[in-house]
Amino acid sequence: MESLRASLLGVVEKIRNSVLLDTRDVDAIIRDLQRVLLKADVDVKLVFDLSERIKKRFFSQEIPSGFSKRDVLIKILYEELVTLLGGENTTPYVVPKTPYTIMLVGIEGSGKTTTAAKLAKYFKEQGYRVGLIAADTYRPGAHDQLKQLAEKIGVYFYGNPHSKTPLAIVEEGVKELTSKNVQILIIDTAGRHKDEEALMREVVEIHESLKPDDVMLIIDATLGKEVSRQAAAFHERIPLGHVIITKLDGSARGGGALSAVAATGARIAFIGTGEKLEDLEPFVPQKFVARLLGMPDLEALIKRFQAVEAVERERAKLIASGKITLLDLKEQLLEVRKLGPLSKVLEMLGGSSLPLKGSIEGSEEEFDKWIAIMNSMTQEELLKPEIIDRSRMMRIARGSGTSVRDVRKLLDSYHQMRKLVRQLYRSRRRIPGLNL
Ligand code: GDP
Repeated sequence: MESLRASLLGVVEKIRNSVLLDTRDVDAIIRDLQRVLLKADVDVKLVFDLSERIKKRFFSQEIPSGFSKRDVLIKILYEELVTLLGGENTTPYVVPKTPYTIMLVGIEGSGKTTTAAKLAKYFKEQGYRVGLIAADTYRPGAHDQLKQLAEKIGVYFYGNPHSKTPLAIVEEGVKELTSKNVQILIIDTAGRHKDEEALMREVVEIHESLKPDDVMLIIDATLGKEVSRQAAAFHERIPLGHVIITKLDGSARGGGALSAVAATGARIAFIGTGEKLEDLEPFVPQKFVARLLGMPDLEALIKRFQAVEAVERERAKLIASGKITLLDLKEQLLEVRKLGPLSKVLEMLGGSSLPLKGSIEGSEEEFDKWIAIMNSMTQEELLKPEIIDRSRMMRIARGSGTSVRDVRKLLDSYHQMRKLVRQLYRSRRRIPGLNL
C-alpha cells in the first residue's frame, strides 16, 4: 500500500498548492486521482463514479466560513474514499458473546493459516481464552504449522493428523476445547482439494454441522480486483460474515482488492500487513483513509467540519419548527453589514430621502455592538439563548467590551423577534398553500 499512499499524498499536495481551485485545477487534480486509483487496480467504473461525485459535490457545495476551498475538496476526497472502501463500517471488529466460533475459509496460499494464528494472538491480547483447530487435512504441513504457531502464541490447539475427515476433527476439536472453557474458537479449513467443487462441498459440510458464529473469508490482496469473483464464489455457497484481506503490505493492487470487496457489500474486518504475527489490523475505512491521505491534521479538519454540520442540522431543525436562533440573527446582521454603511443600504433601496434616514443613525453602532456581543457567545449560547444567566451575561459583556445592560437589551430584542417569527409561522400553518 506504500505506493498508493505516496501517490495519494501527491494528489493532496496538489490540492494544497492550488491557488484558485477552478474547473481547470480541479479537472487536473481529478485526472491525477484517477491515474493513482487505476494504477492501484481499482475498478474503472468505481473510479469514474467517484470522480464525478467529487466534482459535483465540490462545485455545488458552499464553502462554510472558517474553511478554505482546499479544506472542502480534501474533505470530499476523504469522504468519497471512505465510501469506496466500505464507509458505513465505523467500528473495529468485536466478539459479541462467548463461546464464539469463527470459521476461516479461502483458497490455498491466501494466508489462511497465518491469519488464524494472527487472530488468535489478537484476541488473546484482548484477554480471551483462545483455541485454534487445524481442519486443513490436504495441505501437507498445515497441521504442524498451526500447532507450532499456537504454541508460540500460547493458545489452545486441537488437531488430529490421523483423523479421517476434516468434519470429524472440527467436531472433536470443538468438544474438547469448549470443555476447557475456551471462549473463542478459530477453525482453519482446507484451501485445496481435488477440485473446486469438492472443496466447496467440504466447506458447506463443515458449515452446516458447526453452525459457526462467524465465517471469515481470507483473500490475497495481490489478486487485485479479481478478489470480488472469489468472494462471490464463496458467498454463493455459504453466508460470509466478514472478509480479511492479506498481504496488503507488499501489494500495489491493494486498492483494487479493498474496493472490490467493499463493493460486494461484504464487511472487511481485518487486514494483513506483513508476515509477522502482529501484522494484523482491524479495518476501519475512516482510519485507513486518514492514514492513506497521510495528514496528521486531517482528523482535526474532519472534526471541525462535523461540528459545523452538527450546528447546521440543529438550526435546520429549529427553523423548520418556526424558531430562529441568535446564530441566525448574527448572520443576518453580518450580511447587512457586508453591504456597507446602513445609510448606503437604504440609498440602494431607494429610500435615502425617507424619514427613516434619521432613525437609522445610531443603529449602525447598535448593530456592531450586537455583533460584538454575539461574537463573545459560545455556539451553545447562540443556539440556546435561554441558558444565558447573569454570570454568562457578565462574561459576554466583558468579552465584548459592553455592559450587562447591552447584553440584556440584545436578548430582549431577540425574544421579541422570535415571537414575531413564531406568529408568522403559526399563520403560515393555518393557511395551507401560502408560502411565506
Ligand atoms: P494458507 O495456504 O492460506 O494457509 O497460507 P499461509 O498462511 O501458509 O500463507 C501463505 C504465505 O503468505 C506465507 O508465506 C505467509 O507468510 C504469507 N502471508 C500471509 N499473510 C501475509 C501478509 O499479510 N503479508 C505478507 N507479506 N505475507 C503474508
